[in-house]
Amino acid sequence: MTMRVEQARRAVFLDRDGTVIVDKHYLSDPAEVELERGAASGLAHLTRLGLRLIGVTNQSGVAKGMFDMLAVHKVNDRVAELLMPYGVSIEHWYVCPHDGDTGCVCRKPAPGMMYEAARDRSIDLTQSFVIGDKLSDVELGTATGAAGILVETGKGAALSVAARAQGHLVVRDLDEAAAAIAAMLE
Ligand SMILES: [Mg+2]
Ligand SMILES: [Zn+2]
Repeated sequence: MTMRVEQARRAVFLDRDGTVIVDKHYLSDPAEVELERGAASGLAHLTRLGLRLIGVTNQSGVAKGMFDMLAVHKVNDRVAELLMPYGVSIEHWYVCPHDGDTGCVCRKPAPGMMYEAARDRSIDLTQSFVIGDKLSDVELGTATGAAGILVETGKGAALSVAARAQGHLVVRDLDEAAAAIAAMLE
């Protein structure tokens, strides 16, 4: 019973570009969306474990005027469409549309988006996980008490040594991340 309650408040926070989908550098065209290696099977595995999936993505292209929030939503909708056949649904996408120099509270590694999710969606961050291909993703774990996991897709392969030095788990892709989380929950 206790386990069940804990599980309901547990989430996996997911970076988008380079983690769930291939990083195409300021992607704004839904037609360009392509799932990353291991994403479909890994996210399906996390879903079978009863974990809630929540997206957290920096999209400074909005602040730079390269695309608008509608384009971000369209890309996220396309991600949902590609994941649906695998029984995977990302509950909500939190988006930071700001540029790096504005000092906003939401641009990763600032923990604003995760705090918002914890508050609005009744999530216990200390029981949660955060997965991404950059140090700014795993550093969210350090900031919030969630377990940070670096995937070696996207920019991640070049960052594995640095992430390990910070005490984060490093895995090949989302498929391996899901297996590692399953082992931790046993
Ligand atoms: Mg990324
Ligand atoms: Zn922001």
